[in-house]
Amino acid sequence: MKKALVPLLLFVSFISAAQSAKTIHRKAIVVDTHNDVLSSLTLKGIDISHRQTQGQSDLDRWKEGGLDVQFFSIWTGEKPRGKSFYLDANEEIDSLKRLILRNYNRMAEITSYRSVKRAVKKNKLACLMGVEGGHMIENDLANLNALYLRGMRYLTLTWNNSTSWASSAMDETEHPGDLKQKGLTEFGKQVVRKLNELGVMVDVSHVGEQTFYDAIATTTKPVLASHSSVWALCPVFRNLKDDQIKAVARNKGVICINFYSGFISKAYAQRQEQIDGNERKRIQDSLFAITKDSAQMRRQWREYYRTEMEKLRPSIADVVDHIDYIVKLVGDSYVGLGSDFDGVSSLPVGLDDVTTYPKITAELVRRGYSKKSIKRILGGNVLRVMKANFN
Ligand SMILES: [Zn+2]
Repeated sequence: MKKALVPLLLFVSFISAAQSAKTIHRKAIVVDTHNDVLSSLTLKGIDISHRQTQGQSDLDRWKEGGLDVQFFSIWTGEKPRGKSFYLDANEEIDSLKRLILRNYNRMAEITSYRSVKRAVKKNKLACLMGVEGGHMIENDLANLNALYLRGMRYLTLTWNNSTSWASSAMDETEHPGDLKQKGLTEFGKQVVRKLNELGVMVDVSHVGEQTFYDAIATTTKPVLASHSSVWALCPVFRNLKDDQIKAVARNKGVICINFYSGFISKAYAQRQEQIDGNERKRIQDSLFAITKDSAQMRRQWREYYRTEMEKLRPSIADVVDHIDYIVKLVGDSYVGLGSDFDGVSSLPVGLDDVTTYPKITAELVRRGYSKKSIKRILGGNVLRVMKANFN
């Protein structure tokens, strides 16, 4: 072969791989099981009907990223914002419903599996709700039922805070001594059975290992891990160990990879732990000794922290390594995407907002994944779990 032809052939194969990634992405039903933008909508009144210069999600950018199905996280923290956790959850649901009403030609509220494809065909973003934390049912199955009636299609059994009926990953690993019980109580098991009966996916992200195994033993339907990554690649409390990944596969559930830098990269997580350990106080003290002004010290500290962590942001390939790991361990039927956009402080380089999903597809094509496999990972696996839980 003439030498001059080599670069030309390389260029042509590069272009055709890019084209095929674009086509696969466009034809696939792309599902993201976790996005936190509702908190900005509810608390700051930001209207994501129009393109925003801040944040990571809005309708225009979802379109650009080729996203078809979005699960919106309904969330409130350890302390209620208003009168109760349950009312906070309802306030977030209200803001999503209002957003969908204002944009009925571009969004559709979805509560059944059957209606997903209808929405996609009409070129609308299929919108579903996941309630991120069992504390929002306030120990009452009537509240759980009411949240179901308002649209909840997954319940994350705990957020970082444990409930009286389920222990969280954070508490099981970091404050085990403070826990009254580990895992699910009898009421916790009732919650899981009620979710199965109603047709709400049991979400095992955020839960402690004991709660995870109790939930898997109780549920009769496939589970969802809406935003968790792989512990073997980044050993932090929120990620799933090999045995947990195998248990999800046996249950025919799905694990949706969280993009947060601190759950993807071991180096990032370790540096963060170092800084949060003793470095923070030491540096803040020395900055204060120079500035003699606490506001200025805090500004300089934030800048230092940002610069330090920026250097360690992972790459798109690192995210796809987590997908790869699960595929190699249990096959390509149990992994999906659960970005956590608008819920995390750092994202991998190049995955800055919801326009960037096609880059994941491109990386999967580059690694030689088949079209069929990629379609499963981008959304097919989650759709299968949805169908098994609510038709
Ligand atoms: Zn979360």
